[in-house]
Amino acid sequence: MVLLGTVLTSFDPWRSPLCTCPRKYTINPYTGCSHRCLYCYTTAYIRSRESKPKQYLNHRLRRDLKYIDPRFPVDMSLSSDPYPPEERILGITRAVLELLLPAGLRVQITTKSDALLRDIDLLSRYNVAVSVTITTLDDSLARRLEPNAPPPSNRLKALEILKDHNVPFSVRVDPVIPYLNDDENSLRELVREVASIGAKHVVTSTYKARPDNFARMVNAFPELKAKWMKLYYPGGKIKLGYAYAPIQLRRRILWPVVDEANKLKLTYATCRENLTTPKYFRAPSCDGTHLIPSRIELRSRTAERIRLENFFSNSRV
Ligand code: SF4
Repeated sequence: MVLLGTVLTSFDPWRSPLCTCPRKYTINPYTGCSHRCLYCYTTAYIRSRESKPKQYLNHRLRRDLKYIDPRFPVDMSLSSDPYPPEERILGITRAVLELLLPAGLRVQITTKSDALLRDIDLLSRYNVAVSVTITTLDDSLARRLEPNAPPPSNRLKALEILKDHNVPFSVRVDPVIPYLNDDENSLRELVREVASIGAKHVVTSTYKARPDNFARMVNAFPELKAKWMKLYYPGGKIKLGYAYAPIQLRRRILWPVVDEANKLKLTYATCRENLTTPKYFRAPSCDGTHLIPSRIELRSRTAERIRLENFFSNSRV
């Protein structure tokens, strides 16, 4: 008998002291991620660099749904983008949303892709908030850093459409990378831009090096190798397997994001930085899940069991 791991899992089961996320679940419809961001953290433990549908998703989701506490939100997804290019053909993320949302579950979608607009009918009808990652407004820099992800200009257009459809969204300015996308004026402009569209919350974080993402970064930006080496190896501090730049520098390069957000009366937070004073963190949640609306109520267990039976008999997942 094959033992299959959970797909709808508690986020941060190791309870990292650096994680400030509220209790939530996470699901990754895909394993690996075709966006191929140079700084991606998940490549250290997921070998595939292409998005592949998770195996036996149908069977595993059906099992896991019986055990979750439906009061807590589901973040989709945190180790792979739920809208890689493959999703346009496969529709697996959409199928998962069709399963979770009518149950009244609260869902946050975390993505770098404007492909989520295909599902605007679901996003605007159910309990959904969106978190869009934008690391720079410069399309040409983004093309080098996040080669297969849609350019930031497309992501900004997507935010406008989310706004038009009344779907709440936050923006992740993550990672801020020393000497690369940390220009103060550019970061302030980014925050002003997303606030003018309607972002209510911004979360930010600095780049943390792991041997594999660091190798990709120095390969793409060899002119920064010496400076980064000084900051991260051996300049940085290793925390839970990640090399952190010195705290003074992290404070300095995150400051334009949180300060601008504060001036514009957005909520703001830092992620896994151990910077939790009000200067750097003023929000009901760091991850933006506090923006998830309550448009429909949770269904009763019995009603949900009947709906699931019908759903899985015709399911694509
Ligand atoms: S979108 Fe996220 S998961 Fe995908 S490659 Fe980029 S950082 Fe990694």
